[in-house]
Amino acid sequence: MIGMTTGISRSHRNPSFGSDVKVVQVSKQVKKKRKHVAQRTCVGCRSIQPKRSMVRVVRGADGVQVDQTGKMPGRGAYLHESRSCWELGLKTALARALKTELTPDDLSRLAAFMHTLPEDEPTEPVPGG
Ligand SMILES: [Zn+2]
Repeated sequence: MIGMTTGISRSHRNPSFGSDVKVVQVSKQVKKKRKHVAQRTCVGCRSIQPKRSMVRVVRGADGVQVDQTGKMPGRGAYLHESRSCWELGLKTALARALKTELTPDDLSRLAAFMHTLPEDEPTEPVPGG
């Protein structure tokens, strides 16, 4: 007869779930991809705006003129579609930006365009409505 050894050894293993989990803080550096928007300085008020809201004036072979297509060759400058910016620009800034002098012809052309722009002065109350 063989004596049975009744040795029940229960290996009691302690499951160590989540006892040693390091909380790693992931510092995400979210870099916003900026779309490149062409920005232009208005030669009148000198503020920088997206190109779309600007009117291009170009010094081309036929003098300085408004480039409404934005594609005319030549040295260009930008102005807001705002009469006050044009008034400022036509005095000196535009000529300087274009590195030229505005001839009376140029000026009358530009002034003609300027007068198509909406006036941005505060509307005065109309007497008598
Ligand atoms: Zn402006």
